[in-house]
Amino acid sequence: MVTNSGVKRSSASLRTKVLVIGGGPAGSTAARVLAENNVDTVLVEKDFSFVKPCGGGIPSGAFEELDLPYAPVKKQIRKIKMVSPSGRTVEVNLKGGFIAMVERGQFDSILRQKAEDAGAELLQGRFRRFLEIGRQIISEVIVGDSPVRITSDYVIAADGINSRALVSAGVTPPMACYVITQRLESPLTDSCEFWFGSEHAPGFYSWVFPHGEYVSTGTGGFRIKGLRALHENFLKRRQLPAGDSLRGYKVPLWGSNVFNKGRILFAGDAAGQVMPLTFEGIYYAMKAAQFAAEAVIRDKPSEYKKLWKKRFHTRFSLMKRLWRYFLKDDASMEKFVSICERPYVQEASMRLWLNKKADKGALLSYINIFRKFIV
Ligand SMILES: Cc1cc2nc3c(=O)[nH]c(=O)nc-3n(C[C@H](O)[C@H](O)[C@H](O)COP(=O)(O)OP(=O)(O)OC[C@H]3O[C@@H](n4cnc5c(N)ncnc54)[C@H](O)[C@@H]3O)c2cc1C
Repeated sequence: MVTNSGVKRSSASLRTKVLVIGGGPAGSTAARVLAENNVDTVLVEKDFSFVKPCGGGIPSGAFEELDLPYAPVKKQIRKIKMVSPSGRTVEVNLKGGFIAMVERGQFDSILRQKAEDAGAELLQGRFRRFLEIGRQIISEVIVGDSPVRITSDYVIAADGINSRALVSAGVTPPMACYVITQRLESPLTDSCEFWFGSEHAPGFYSWVFPHGEYVSTGTGGFRIKGLRALHENFLKRRQLPAGDSLRGYKVPLWGSNVFNKGRILFAGDAAGQVMPLTFEGIYYAMKAAQFAAEAVIRDKPSEYKKLWKKRFHTRFSLMKRLWRYFLKDDASMEKFVSICERPYVQEASMRLWLNKKADKGALLSYINIFRKFIV
């Protein structure tokens, strides 16, 4: 068995207090929090070298709150550009913070290392299925070519949008949308750009994010079919070269009520916890994992849902409404961008986006601003 640090183990069965499935931002956070609280934890990740296709944009406020590493930050973005379907452009200078663009391979690997440093055991292995779900959970994990049975009191499943754990536990997966993304070599922009228009991203947006030596660009849509053509429309509109490193992936649409099934807790993309409208998931995956770990530490799995709802439910519900209302057609997208021209709207939005710990007052003032516009 190969562990993160290359240590070999030979056993065909393991016993641990908590099994964490998936070594992305959610899984590593859960494992670190558990290990820091002296909870015996094993994290299984199917491939330590996996690099998740991702824009890698994380608001600066999250770094302090979650003690995130700065090494994978390739660029600090201090300007956002929004372009409406008709070409109306709004530029927002970020005050009091920035968006950090991280390289996901390095980011995920450092987070796993932090979990291991805290005392969690990391194993490269693919979760296959639950063999038994009860007060004890027996999971089958394929390590190399061999099945390993891992018995645990709890499982935190953080195995992403294609979660096998959800399916094996008999839980309905969250709905998902699709994105197609690619890297382009030259540093074409210093802003995070969001382009709206149904000719290239109906119901979503296309983006260009600078990462230092390259930019990532992409387009979202409800269906995988036709997404490549939509993305080509965007490249033409933005006058970008075609490039050849296209990758397609799914992004969950929040709305389902996936938290736990008994002692199996779901966190991050596996639970659909991606913010509607912005489709930002890294921060929320890590916070959900932290809440799940805290619930396990207290031996009260139902606490997880309470902690999450208290902190995020209003925010997610509002953003879902805004997404449905403002991205439904070109006229609404046009209205959205024009609203974002107003300095007080920019200030309220950025306060909420950059500073995730923003108090209820910040959220309420944001709700009040948009309540006026949604008729
Ligand atoms: C193109 C694109 C751009 C995005 N841009 C941004 C952005 O700029 N900012 C942002 O905040 N969010 C962004 N997101 C969303 C963000 O990537 C996710 O929300 C985030 O990665 C969720 O973290 P997670 O740990 O829940 O899942 P993941 O990061 O998907 O991690 C899941 C882990 O589980 C492992 N795994 C899967 N199956 C198994 C198994 N059977 N056994 C063991 N391990 C398994 C995987 O290898 C992976 O390491 C983007 C998403 C996409 C697709």
